[in-house]
Amino acid sequence: MRAVVFEDVGRVAVRDVPDPRVEDPGDAVVRVRRAAICGTDLHFLHGKAPYDPGVVLGHEAVGVVEAVGDGVRGVRPGDRVVVAFDNACGACWFCRVGQTQLCEDLLMIGGGPFTGGLPGAQAELVRVPRADVNLLPVPEGVDDERALFVGDVLATGVHAAAMGGIGAGASVAVVGAGPVGLLAGAAARARGAEPVLVLDLEPRRLEVAARLGLVPVDVRTRNPQATVEAATEGRGADVSIDAVGRPEAFETAVDVARRGGTVVVVGVYAGEVAEVQLGVYWARALTLRFSGLCPVHARWGEAMAAVREGRIDPLPLVSHRLPLEEAPRGYELFDRREATKVLLIP
Ligand code: ZN
Ligand code: ZN
Repeated sequence: MRAVVFEDVGRVAVRDVPDPRVEDPGDAVVRVRRAAICGTDLHFLHGKAPYDPGVVLGHEAVGVVEAVGDGVRGVRPGDRVVVAFDNACGACWFCRVGQTQLCEDLLMIGGGPFTGGLPGAQAELVRVPRADVNLLPVPEGVDDERALFVGDVLATGVHAAAMGGIGAGASVAVVGAGPVGLLAGAAARARGAEPVLVLDLEPRRLEVAARLGLVPVDVRTRNPQATVEAATEGRGADVSIDAVGRPEAFETAVDVARRGGTVVVVGVYAGEVAEVQLGVYWARALTLRFSGLCPVHARWGEAMAAVREGRIDPLPLVSHRLPLEEAPRGYELFDRREATKVLLIP
C-alpha cells in the first residue's frame, strides 16, 4: 500500500510499504478514507521527538473496518469508524476511571518508539490494536471529514472545556488559535459560554475563529489582558485556556483569567521552565488544571454528539484537501502555517 513515512529530520515521503494485517485477536485493520496532519507530526518532522525512519506517520484517521481479529466484538468489517489517537488498554485502573491518557499500557498510533512504535494512519490501511476500545463507530448523518476530528483535536477541545467546568454564561479566553485552541473555543460555545475570545497573531487562524462564532483578538495590535478585561466587565475571563504550550502563552493565560478563575493548560509541554510567583496565584485564588494528553475515550461521545447535532462544525478548520501522494507538500504548508488543517485522501 501507499503510505507517508518519516525519512529523516525535515523529510517525509510517500512510499510503498507492506499492508498491515491482523496480528492479535483484538486488532482491526481500517481502510482509511481521510487522514490528517497534526502538530504532533511536525514535532517528529523537526526531530523534537524521535521517530524511526521508514515508519508510517499520522494518528488522525477515519475509515471503514476492513478486517478484525477473533476477539473483536464492538466493530465489524464494513463499519465506518474513527480512530482514537491514544490507544488505551481499556482494563487498567486509569482506564476504568476514564483517565485513558494515563493508561498503564498506553500506545499511540504513529506516536514513535516511546509509545509502541505503531505504524501511523497516513496510509491506505492502518492496524488498530485493542479495537473494541479504540475505534468509535461513526453515526449516520456525520460525514467522514467531520468525524475525523472526533478522534483527536475536537475531543481535546471538548476536554479543555470540560476541565474548565465551562457552562452557560461563562466567559472564556483561549490563548492560541491552532486547531486545538479553535475547537476548545467551539466546545466552550457549545456549552453556552459567552463571550469566547481567541488570542493569536496569525490572521488566517483568526479568520477561522470568527467563522466558528468566536471573538478573534489579534495580539499584534491589541493587549491581551486589556482586551479580555474590556469584554468581561473589567474582571478577566472565568476560564482561560493555554492551547499553545509555550511559557509566554501560559503567562498570558494566567494574566487574562479573573480572580478566582480557572486556567486550563492543554498545550503540550516537555522541558520548558516557567518562574511562578506563588503569592500572586494564591492571592488571586487561581485554579490551575493540566490536561496531559486528552483521554479521547472519555470525551468522544460528547464530541460526536455535538457534531451530529450541528452544535460544533469543525470543517472551517480545513484549509487543504490533498491526495495522499501530495503529503510532503501538505507537511510543508502546515509547517509554514499556510494551512490551518490538511486532510489527506488515500
Ligand atoms: Zn493530532
Ligand atoms: Zn489502560
